[in-house]
Amino acid sequence: MDDKMMLMIPGPTPVPEQVLLAMAKHPMGHRSGEFSQIVAEATENLKWLHQTQNDVLILTASGTGAMEAGIINFLSAGDRVLVGDNGKFGNRWAQVARAYGLAVQAITAEWGKPLDPEAFRTALEADTQKQIKAVIVTHSETSTGVLNDLKTINRHVKAHGEALIIVDAVTSLGACSVPVDEWGLDVVGSGSQKGYMIPPGLSFLSVSPKAWAAYETATLPKYYLDLGPYRKNAAKQTTPFTPPVNLFFALQAALTMMKAEGLEAIFARHDRHKRATRAAVKAMNLPLLGPDDVASPAITAVLPQQVEAEKIRSVMKKQFDIALAGGQEHLKGKIFRIGHLGFVCDRNILAATSSLEATLMQLGYDQFNPGAGVAAASAVLNS
Ligand SMILES: *Cc1c(COP(=O)(O)O)cnc(C)c1O
Repeated sequence: MDDKMMLMIPGPTPVPEQVLLAMAKHPMGHRSGEFSQIVAEATENLKWLHQTQNDVLILTASGTGAMEAGIINFLSAGDRVLVGDNGKFGNRWAQVARAYGLAVQAITAEWGKPLDPEAFRTALEADTQKQIKAVIVTHSETSTGVLNDLKTINRHVKAHGEALIIVDAVTSLGACSVPVDEWGLDVVGSGSQKGYMIPPGLSFLSVSPKAWAAYETATLPKYYLDLGPYRKNAAKQTTPFTPPVNLFFALQAALTMMKAEGLEAIFARHDRHKRATRAAVKAMNLPLLGPDDVASPAITAVLPQQVEAEKIRSVMKKQFDIALAGGQEHLKGKIFRIGHLGFVCDRNILAATSSLEATLMQLGYDQFNPGAGVAAASAVLNS
């Protein structure tokens, strides 16, 4: 049936009708006074979302573009960087850093396990010459549903004193607290198609004064993603190049909705949905990929036994119009991932849970009592 597909993937996420309607207009001139007002309002609201007084810049790029900008604007060829790599995205930042000739020391953990903050501490304490220029960490590792302990890792970065902390907050910003000023996060990247409830196309980057100081001496080549012009233009409520103006209408509408809900309520909602989803999966006797205490608020990864992950995804999509994500790299075909990020309500969680039960029954999986998943999710949602 048309228009019935429910996206429960970690981006693009569902877009509220108010946001879709905000986009259904002729584009306006991006050098007009009206558009400048939208840029100014969106920028203020982005600072609210990032809990910061730092600059928050808006780029026309996907999240990867923002992260690439976050790496190349503050570093020079040969600089030493520590990169946390415990999944697809952490690995991507190591690749970007290597592509630009940075000297990457990867701190790895098995996919499904969190990064060990002690490994960062050891590497940073050993660097008495203060040669490590940046620590690059993915907060919510979307490929595995693991939330890395950014707060503790960042404490070790602060103790080092010299290195910048550069954060991929693409599936944590707008899902759990990322207090940029309180923690002193230097560079934080995110993307419109995740917690923002907007279609893909915009990304965001907050930049601290310490990062701007590093920008002054950084020599990696850059042009479209040179953040200097973005900063200069943002001060004049505009953008260096033609932005997707209709996505700015969407951004304005989405941030207005988020402000009306409130940060605490948004984080609490994601936490409830995470707990309800995990409780339901456990009640179906399906193993979760990562442990509860490091579970991402955005996505839950499930490692089914006795029934194929791809068959589950296929039935969920064909019969129930629910799109789930598959695994990436070596987890392809082994896991499926349930997104609960952005514009998600209790009904979505119950629809996914009950449909998953029906799917399992159809595939002949009998290791659970039908109804147990829905009951477990309901118990969390009702508490
Ligand atoms: C989605 C995502 C990105 C950005 O991916 P794009 O396809 O470039 O938008 C980056 N990091 C994480 C953790 C993500 O989930």
